[in-house]
Amino acid sequence: MTSDKTLLIVEDNAINRQLLVEILSAQYKLYEAENGQAALHVLKEHGEEIDLILLDIIMPVMDGYTFLSHVKKDPALAPIPVIVTTQGSAEKDEINALSQGAADFVTKPYNPQILLHRIANIINLQETASMIKLFKYDRLTGLYAKEFFARRVREILNANPDKVYDIICSDIENFKLVNELFGIRAGDRLLCGVAEQCRRFAGSEGVAGRIQADRFVCLKEHKTGYTQGMFARAAEELGSLSGTKSAAIKWGIYTIKNKELEVEQMCDRALLAAGSIKGQYGKYVAVYDDKLRSQLVREQKIMESMETALSGRQFVVYMQPKYRVSDNRLAGAEALVRWEHPEWGMMMPGSFIPLFEKSGFITRLDQFVWEDTCRILQEWRAQGLPLVPVSVNVSRADIYQADIAESLSGLVRKYDLPPSLLHLEITESAYTENPDQIIDTVRELRRLGFIIEMDDFGSGYSSLNMLNQMPMDILKLDLKFIQSETAKPADKGVLHFIMDLARWMKLLVIAEGVETEAQLSRLRELGCDYVQGFYFAKPMTPSNFQKLLAGLPPTELK
Ligand code: C2E
Ligand code: CA
Ligand code: CA
Repeated sequence: MTSDKTLLIVEDNAINRQLLVEILSAQYKLYEAENGQAALHVLKEHGEEIDLILLDIIMPVMDGYTFLSHVKKDPALAPIPVIVTTQGSAEKDEINALSQGAADFVTKPYNPQILLHRIANIINLQETASMIKLFKYDRLTGLYAKEFFARRVREILNANPDKVYDIICSDIENFKLVNELFGIRAGDRLLCGVAEQCRRFAGSEGVAGRIQADRFVCLKEHKTGYTQGMFARAAEELGSLSGTKSAAIKWGIYTIKNKELEVEQMCDRALLAAGSIKGQYGKYVAVYDDKLRSQLVREQKIMESMETALSGRQFVVYMQPKYRVSDNRLAGAEALVRWEHPEWGMMMPGSFIPLFEKSGFITRLDQFVWEDTCRILQEWRAQGLPLVPVSVNVSRADIYQADIAESLSGLVRKYDLPPSLLHLEITESAYTENPDQIIDTVRELRRLGFIIEMDDFGSGYSSLNMLNQMPMDILKLDLKFIQSETAKPADKGVLHFIMDLARWMKLLVIAEGVETEAQLSRLRELGCDYVQGFYFAKPMTPSNFQKLLAGLPPTELK
């Protein structure tokens, strides 16, 4: 019975060749070649099919040794086992053949039984070896697969108890998106690029592996002074290599302090470090330390307790007054959330909002803040207080919710408020991501009567022509921006320019983060309409803000 295996017979002597064909043709598919040159030809055409080569040494045109050296140099052909056939038992020839990579040898005249057994055994051996290789190496990149990487790391650590090592892991942000947008090929190129960098980091002394689809790792001897710059260059290189500028790659480093840890845990720590800078522009590498660990534990706790915090009314709304510059009169407020945590005390939004944005919980919290703000406004109204508009923050994730317009107009209806009393602060950077969709949604919100304030203006990177298309009523200058205007004289002029621009676009301008008299008078000089900042008042409880309302007949902000 024939097996599904294929052999290549390389032999110049026609009678010998015929003999081999007779022995082997019952079991194997055969190709024949009469010298090395002809054999290379056959390999070029059918190399992938061939499971084993039977090779004579002495032949015209190209002898067996020359042929063998060609085969072993070619990575695609090198794994094909070669059995050398020698005339009589010339030990010298055998040694020579084996040293050049032949798998075995047989002597002529052939004993058919022995020949068949040897061939079968060697094909078997080769298959087992390539199976092992398959598990040992990642097919795409050629790096060690996860288990083998771990085994090699363990070996290296055990063999070098006095040396200190680093584990460096890579994490590609949004790798799935790269595959989706640029195709699998581009994705593969990117992965191979990262693998190559890992290999380079590892150098000849270290090892590199692929531990997950889009995560690579290397072990190398510890060094101090890794810089963002080193890894920034690596990221840049990847961008140009894969043509996927948007793929951000983060690296995490764990210096192995505790050799008892499982290799997998070591990698997890490096990955945690990489994860801690996810989404942070300009950060490419982070080092794992105990501080990071406790921060992560804290973040975990925050995520675990947010649901109970919402249902338990631990989130409270504060109000920060806004003033009109021309006469310093109260003109509005911004609703800012605080978390009164039963254990940790009062928490500022900077410590939890970014986490909620990541988890998506922000939309639920914002919904609560919007409703509570409406409820408070309605209460004040019922008490006959003069009202000023209050702005609420609208996160990027909120705008992507299909029903945001209905949900906001439902709220003002429920509390019987004119929509213009609720200003919506939308951060400038929200517009840059998916401009068309955002613009449509915001336009709809304006049509419904809400007043749009573009928050953090000056911190994003909107181009001027885009600015013109963005639906809004009020420009809210970022606080860093105001503070640098007065701190660094070199920045003077920028504020002036923006005020002119705003006037040209017929927008009102509010400056936030005003802390000093000097800042206020500069803004007044430039014709800024409103201000918000510690110079006037910090965010306060609604009941304190109510006292301000009761104090004077305010002018409404637009
Ligand atoms: P933001 O919207 O830019 O809010 C202004 C922040 O600047 C507030 O910090 C406010 O207290 C602070 N601030 C006001 N005047 C001054 C000043 O003169 N000097 C300085 N140094 N800071 C001043 P806060 O309350 O900690 O809020 C931080 C950020 O958290 C907000 O920045 C906003 O992005 C977010 N946030 C707050 N509440 C909410 C909310 O209900 N929903 C959403 N999505 N985000 C919120
Ligand atoms: Ca705001
Ligand atoms: Ca702001």
